[in-house]
Amino acid sequence: MASKSQDGRNPEADRPDPATGLNPGDQARPGTAGTGENVCARCRGTGRVDGERCDQCGGTGRVTEGIGGG
Ligand SMILES: [Zn+2]
Repeated sequence: MASKSQDGRNPEADRPDPATGLNPGDQARPGTAGTGENVCARCRGTGRVDGERCDQCGGTGRVTEGIGGG
């Protein structure tokens, strides 16, 4: 019988993929159809809020959002 990884979980499924750079403010992965990059509404594109890194865009100042909303 084949055994799984030590704890039986897939670490790649558990944590965000650094290659995608998905942040809390992102609604989809960059490049997803129907979405586009937009200025982060929280930090207004500065990437910082009150001198600290914006947690919505991860300090990039941009988020990926759906297009076509009102
Ligand atoms: Zn931001």
